[in-house]
Amino acid sequence: MEQKLGNPQKTIEIIKKYNFAFQKKFGQNFLIDPHVLHKIIKAAGVTKDDCVLEIGPGIGTMTQYLADQARHVVAVEIDKNLMPILEETLREYENITVINEDILKMDIHRLAEDYNGSRPIKVVANLPYYITTPIIMGLFESHVPIDNITVMVQREVADRMQAEPGTKDYGALSLAVQYYAKAYIAANVPPNCFIPRPGVGSAVIRLTRHEKPPVEAKDPDLMFRLIRASFNQRRKTLQNGLNNSPDVPYSREVIAAAIESLSLPPTVRGETLTLEQFAQLSDCLSSQG
Ligand code: SAM
Repeated sequence: MEQKLGNPQKTIEIIKKYNFAFQKKFGQNFLIDPHVLHKIIKAAGVTKDDCVLEIGPGIGTMTQYLADQARHVVAVEIDKNLMPILEETLREYENITVINEDILKMDIHRLAEDYNGSRPIKVVANLPYYITTPIIMGLFESHVPIDNITVMVQREVADRMQAEPGTKDYGALSLAVQYYAKAYIAANVPPNCFIPRPGVGSAVIRLTRHEKPPVEAKDPDLMFRLIRASFNQRRKTLQNGLNNSPDVPYSREVIAAAIESLSLPPTVRGETLTLEQFAQLSDCLSSQG
């Protein structure tokens, strides 16, 4: 087999050969460190039984490493200029399917059905940072069968995913991650592990999907509307945040009574509530019809 990708020399060689121009709008920062690649694959726990969805293969660096460990890899890449490159770098692998598509427009249920008989897939990616949150939330909220999501994200986003109530990083993303998964940071990755170097540090985070969420909200959709409304207006009290939101169709009095029933002061801010308290609040409101 030709020399593997995942080092600066080979990456630069390929980029020059194809005269590839990095597109900032697609968040293109390619990994050039084999240690980091091994850490990601190890954290994801990929085995020969697994079908892996890779989001944004770039020039195919991590795809090669994944294909060595997995049964099948489906790699979804938006940039059509990368297609001829992927054809070359992945041509010796028979267990890879490359799809030229925007991941946000794909039916991932269908993908899991077609490539893994609807059994849980693993998602592994060095994510384009401009759409980290919609990708992760989309995967969770669509209830695609997923075993774990192991992804490179901005360090600051990894911190937000793990943040506790009352801290500056705590927000809707922290609560969604807590509700759907157990999070653990597998590695911190400095900018010099990429070409071009990003302006911020990165981290590999593994999100292992809960079989059952840690809280039981009767109407999870309402709970997440309350969460989003609270954090959209972070500096407001919970009462005002919920009142001002078009997604929360309850009167000021009903909201005030629900907050009081949780033994919280009327001036409480949403950012101090735990996931369990949001679940209680949503149960209290949903019982109002
Ligand atoms: N996996 C490669 C690596 O680690 O070297 C590249 C990672 S780079 C951070 C992100 C990749 O995602 C780029 O190749 C970019 O073109 C691709 N991408 C960006 N937006 C996308 C989208 N909406 N759907 C699919 N791929 C996307």
